[in-house]
Amino acid sequence: MNRKNDKAEKGKSGRKTAVTATDVRKQLGLCGRCGPFLASYERLESDIDLETAVANLDGKWLTLDWNPNIRELVYRSYGNRVDIGFYHMDSLCPACRRRFVFHADDHERTLRIRLSSEGGYG
Ligand SMILES: [Zn+2]
Repeated sequence: MNRKNDKAEKGKSGRKTAVTATDVRKQLGLCGRCGPFLASYERLESDIDLETAVANLDGKWLTLDWNPNIRELVYRSYGNRVDIGFYHMDSLCPACRRRFVFHADDHERTLRIRLSSEGGYG
C-alpha cells in the first residue's frame, strides 16, 4: 500500500493567514494610481523592505514611513499636497476611493493606506 503522505505536514494549519507583500502589491496594483504609488515607494525606500511594512500591518492598514520624497509621491499620485505644517490629512484615492491618512505627532510621521478600497471608512 502506498502511504506516501502518511506524515502530512502539521503546523501549517495553525498559522494565521497573514497578508504578504505580494497580496499588498496585488491589492494596490488594481488601481492606476495606487499601483504606481506603491511601486515608486518601493523604489524610493529601497532600504525599507515592503515585507517589514506589511509585518506592521495595523488591521487593514499599511503603515509607511513619511519623508519629503513620499510627500512628493503622494502629490504626484493622488494630487494631495501635504504641507509642512500639516499634522493630519485624511483623503481618498480619486480613482479607487481607497482611503489614506497622513498623521504627524511629536514622535513620528506616517502615511497609512487602507488595503481594501471597499467600505473606505471603518
Ligand atoms: Zn487607488
